[in-house]
Amino acid sequence: MNEIERKDKQYVWHPFTQMKGWLDNPQTVIADAQGIKLVDTDGREYYDAVSSLWVNIHGHRRPEIDQAIIDQLGRVAHSTALGLANIPAAEYAEQLVRVAPEGLTKVFYSDDGSTAVEVAIKMAFQYWQHKGRAAKKRFVALEQAYHGDTVGTVSVGGIDLFHRVFKPLLFEPFHIPSPSCYHCRLAENPQTCGLACAQALEALLAEHHEEIAALVIEPLVQAAAGMLMSPPGYLAKVREFTQKYEVLLIADEVATGFGRTGKLFACENEGVSPDLMCLSKGITGGYLPLAATLTTDEIYQAFLGDMAEKRTFYHGHSYTANQLGCAAALASLKIFADEQVIAGLEPKMAAISTKLAKLRKQEHVGDARQCGMIAGIELMQDKENKIPYPWDQTTGAKVCMKAREYGIFIRPVGDVVVFMPPLCSTVAEIEHMLEMVYRSIDEVTSQGKTAASGGGAHF
Ligand SMILES: *Cc1c(COP(=O)(O)O)cnc(C)c1O
Repeated sequence: MNEIERKDKQYVWHPFTQMKGWLDNPQTVIADAQGIKLVDTDGREYYDAVSSLWVNIHGHRRPEIDQAIIDQLGRVAHSTALGLANIPAAEYAEQLVRVAPEGLTKVFYSDDGSTAVEVAIKMAFQYWQHKGRAAKKRFVALEQAYHGDTVGTVSVGGIDLFHRVFKPLLFEPFHIPSPSCYHCRLAENPQTCGLACAQALEALLAEHHEEIAALVIEPLVQAAAGMLMSPPGYLAKVREFTQKYEVLLIADEVATGFGRTGKLFACENEGVSPDLMCLSKGITGGYLPLAATLTTDEIYQAFLGDMAEKRTFYHGHSYTANQLGCAAALASLKIFADEQVIAGLEPKMAAISTKLAKLRKQEHVGDARQCGMIAGIELMQDKENKIPYPWDQTTGAKVCMKAREYGIFIRPVGDVVVFMPPLCSTVAEIEHMLEMVYRSIDEVTSQGKTAASGGGAHF
């Protein structure tokens, strides 16, 4: 164990991590990075095949983003957004509105995905108060949803393993079925069901819309749930029904935003404009914590008034609209435009698709699903009967530890192996990474129980 690992183990408490497992196992310490590879303190290289937990977009140490941050450091690193404006925050807000789905015209900054969604929830709630519809104060969330770790966002979450313990602290939303065909409990045949999951939503809204402020959804991909993907047309139906019943639509694009689904934003895939859109993760290209909640003129206007009218949105953070983060975000968006990043994804997505077809044939791969540059490979003990491995065997984590031996850094969500490489990955790199994933799954699942453990983490 090197000195840094010792200090880490003595002082650092890691997120989503059973620290007993962490302490009992050797851990990798990252010292360096280049392109899509991370380098540890022993000089070993790892492909960053989950984009450092879904944040990295254009690779590490991108000269353009590095330079933008350095340039900004030469001016000012941070000044408060309470009572002051700043240059990169104003510039970026303009650019973001320009590329966002139509109708989203205002940008409220915060620091991370959880705060972006927290802001959206509070805005939606307060909006209806201002509109004189005070009864509209409940929310609709999807089963298996993940929107962050603050108490508000956990309230609209639905991942039992993470969220159950906090139940006494939470407000209670309405839950609707997760629209994942592979896991569907509603329909015999998802191909011919006529979107039974969406019908369940309409039934709920028809009955309860008078008391519902907003519906929160991760459009197209419920990421932390294990890359659960909704069937084509589902999101458009959600928009149609929320509009029909005067329920605000909050699109949590924290994971899906910035090109992951093959479009800049997932909502574009179904021509949907939400009332509020939450962005973080990829917003700075994976460099710095920054988030934005975008909303419409209609919602913004409802908050305007004299002080005495008490329409102010009383929410903010110390680092709101941080200059360094906004400078990185500007540079990242410029790369999207300069290099036609979205158009360049076609062959990469095709390469993922071809490789997944091969993985799907593996004996213990139940499903290998893809949405753009996102893939979820779900392991099953019994593929025929869809019987999962006992969850505490941490089969997914074992596969990921095996992959690390082959120079691939990936993280599972339970027994779903997640593949979400930086958008700048080449076709050859994608093929190599997925080939190593194939081999890791093969070795771990064919030998049944293995010794290596992933430190007990599930995220
Ligand atoms: C990661 C994530 C969040 C939370 O973002 P943090 O930056 O970790 O707080 C919220 N929503 C979705 C869809 C996410 O994937």
